[in-house]
Parts: sequence; C-alpha cells; structure tokens
Amino acid sequence: MPHYYSYNDYLQKKFGCRVYKVSIDAGFSCPNRDGTKGVHGCIFCDERGSSSRTQALSESVTSQIVNNINIRRSRYGAKKFIAYFQSFTNTYAQAAHLKNLYDEAIAAHPDIVGLAISTRADCVDREKLELIAAYRSQVPYVCVEYGLQTIHDHTLKHINRQETHEDFVKAIQMTQELGLDHCAHVILGLPNETHQEMIETAKWIAENKIQGVKIHFLVAMEHTRLAQHYLSGTWKPLSMDEAVSVSCDFLEHLSPECIIYRVGGNGHPQHAIAPQWVWQKKREFSQALDQEFIRRQTRQGSKMVIFS
Ligand code: SF4
Repeated sequence: MPHYYSYNDYLQKKFGCRVYKVSIDAGFSCPNRDGTKGVHGCIFCDERGSSSRTQALSESVTSQIVNNINIRRSRYGAKKFIAYFQSFTNTYAQAAHLKNLYDEAIAAHPDIVGLAISTRADCVDREKLELIAAYRSQVPYVCVEYGLQTIHDHTLKHINRQETHEDFVKAIQMTQELGLDHCAHVILGLPNETHQEMIETAKWIAENKIQGVKIHFLVAMEHTRLAQHYLSGTWKPLSMDEAVSVSCDFLEHLSPECIIYRVGGNGHPQHAIAPQWVWQKKREFSQALDQEFIRRQTRQGSKMVIFS
C-alpha cells in the first residue's frame, strides 16, 4: 500500500492513464530579479531562475510543447499531456499577454488535457486567476502552483524571497474561491529553519486545505548565494537520512487527501553542488522513505491534527 497520495495516482484516477507534464519556458522574468522587488533573486535561484530552462528561448510555446510531446511519446509511450508553464514567474505580465500564451499552449496539440501554471503568490490577482479559471471550459485540469517554501516570514526574509506569507494567504484564498486546482511548493532544509518550523508549515497546509504539495529539499546550484554559504560552511544541506526523517514527519502531518506532487531535489544535476545524494541516490531515497513509513507503521496523514 502506498504511504502517500502521489500526483501520478491522482492523474491516473482522473484520466485513466499516465499523464505527463510538458515544461514550457515562455520567457517570463521575475519581480525578484528584474528590479521591481529585487535584483538578486532568492538565495537558491540560479541565474536562469529555474531548473526547467531546458528549451531555447527562441522556440515558440507550440514548438516546445510539440517537441516535448514527441520525446515523451517515443520514450514512454505517453498519450496525454499537461502544458506546464514552469520557468520563472508565469503570471508576471498583463492579462492580455498571458491569454495569448495560454491560448497557444492549449491549442498546441490535441492531446493536451491540462494547463499548469507555476508562479509567485504576489504575481496573481483576481483578473489573472479568473482568466486561468476560464480554461476549465477547454481542458479538464487547470492548476496554479505557488512557491510557498515556508510559512515563516523570518525564513522568507533570510532567503531573500521578497514576499510574505500574507501574500500567499491572499492568493490561495482567491484561488480556492474560484475552485481552481492548486499546489504549494515547499522547501525542507532552508537555512535557520528548525524541524518544528517545518512541521508547522505542514500543519498549516493541512489546516488550510491546500490541495497539493511539491516537497523539495534545498539544493545549492552553481553561482548562487546559497552555494557560497555552502562553500563557506555557513549552510549545511540535509543528509539523506535527515531528509527521509523530516519528509516522513512532514507527510504524517498533512491531510491524507493532499496530493503529493513530488518529494525530492530540484535543479539540473549538471549545475548542482550539494547535496549530491539528491541525484545520485534518487531510488535509494524513495526506498528509504517507504522503509521509514513501514518502520514507524504510519502513512501520510497519520499525525494530522483534526480542525473543527
Ligand atoms: S521567485 Fe523563483 S524565479 Fe524569482 S528569484 Fe525566487 S526562485 Fe528565482
């Protein structure tokens, strides 16, 4: 029996087959890089802003989608796809420009069954969310993914996020009011964050009925300030054992219905500095997580606090 409710299981149940995300880089920037809120970005953000920048920016949205679909079809026999605006901040433009890009993505291939948009909470408003929600008349799955990272403002400040937890709360309330699928990205192992604080984030997610969570471990990429902290010894990444233990604790405090998009590292291994186990021991990590749940005789939601 699986110990947590995976995104693949959710999609399989919804569509009756395995559904693959195809990443799109639509050339967006980020207010924490273009000077609107800051120029240095989050301390872990590499210069390209996201690990997903695998496509040349000169490629159109349509061509990125079609090329990605062709690869997944030939490699995995994939049949259905979600167009995933992943790189940088994918609502950071006027609504009319967003509409052009999202329209193009939906129309790029007949086997697109969903639209997923990754963004910062401070870069949405009702107009943009209503625009996104309207795509539910064209595809059965429309999801907004927000970088929450943590509920603790002192950590957000430390990692130079240039947004607050209140920004996330406002965005998620609007998103939930519109009934949109949604997911929060969290990071475990952030500097100066205690184990208790990580678990408080899990409890908050459960209490506020966040539909899905993507759990990352903090990774130092080349040319980032986090890499400098790592090299100077002022930040120590989670070991694999620590990551197994804290992931288990985190998942136990979530609701059993919360969809787990992923538990793992982030970034391209070629540009990553530490921790190396995230890429070198992917399978071992996943097996160790299962073993830890078996040892504890728990699963996702086992320690969830029931809110009245
Ligand atoms: S919000 Fe995302 S893209 Fe912007 S600086 Fe932070 S990690 Fe980079």
